[in-house]
Amino acid sequence: MKSETHERTGRDPYRKQRLLTVLAAILLLIGAFWAAHLEIRPAQPTLSAVSRPCLIIDPGHGGIDGGALAYNGVKESDLNLSIALKLRDLAAFYGCETVMTRQDDSRRTDILSYSEHEDLVHRAELVNGVPNGLLLSIHQNCFPTSQPSGAQVLYGPGEESRRWGELTHSCILSALQPENRRVAEPASPGLYLTAHAQCPAILVECGFLSNLSDLQLLSSEKYQRSFAAALLSAYLQYTAPVA
Ligand SMILES: [Zn+2]
Repeated sequence: MKSETHERTGRDPYRKQRLLTVLAAILLLIGAFWAAHLEIRPAQPTLSAVSRPCLIIDPGHGGIDGGALAYNGVKESDLNLSIALKLRDLAAFYGCETVMTRQDDSRRTDILSYSEHEDLVHRAELVNGVPNGLLLSIHQNCFPTSQPSGAQVLYGPGEESRRWGELTHSCILSALQPENRRVAEPASPGLYLTAHAQCPAILVECGFLSNLSDLQLLSSEKYQRSFAAALLSAYLQYTAPVA
C-alpha cells in the first residue's frame, strides 16, 4: 500500500515545485515582453521644473536721463520703471527668473559725468553677462503732434527676436489695443541695446506720451499692470516648452 500510495500521490514529489518554476518563468517572460515593447514616457514636467530663459527687464533711461517728457511733466523714465517693476513682480509670482538693468531712479545724478552711450554700454555688458537671457527693453514714444497712439514693438537681429517681438505685439493688441494697426518691426541698427545684445532682444514702446489718451492710460496703475501682464503672457508663450 505504501508503495501504491507513493506511486499515486508521490510518484513525482517535485511536480508542484516544477509547476511553480515554470509559472514564474512564464511571468518573467511576459514581464520582459512588456518591458521591451512598452513605450516608457517620462513624467510631464511641471511648470516649476521647466527652466525658462531669464527675463532681463530694462526700464529705459533713468536718473538725470528722463527720456521723453509729457506736457504735464510725466517722465518716460518713471513710466518705464513703473511698468518694469510690475512685470518683475508678476514674473516672480509665476516663478520666472528676472534681472533688472535698474530697479530705481537713483543712478546717474551727476549731469556733468553722465554719458548716455556709456550707460547703454554698461547695460549691454550686464545683459550679455546673463546666461540664457532674453532682453525686454521698456520705453515710451513721443511725437511732435498728438495724433499717433498705441504700442510699437521693435525686435533685434535674428529669427528668435523677430518671433518673440511679433508674439509680444500680438499679445498687447489682443489684450489691450485691438484697434492698433501697427506691426512689429525690426529695430534700427542704431538702437544700441537691441543691436548689441547677444540674446533675443525686443524693445517695446508702450504708447505715446504726446497722445492724451495714451498718456492717461499709461499713467494709470491698473493699465500699467495690464500692460505688464500682456508682456509676461508673451514671454510665457514664447518660452513654453515644446510638446
Ligand atoms: Zn525711451
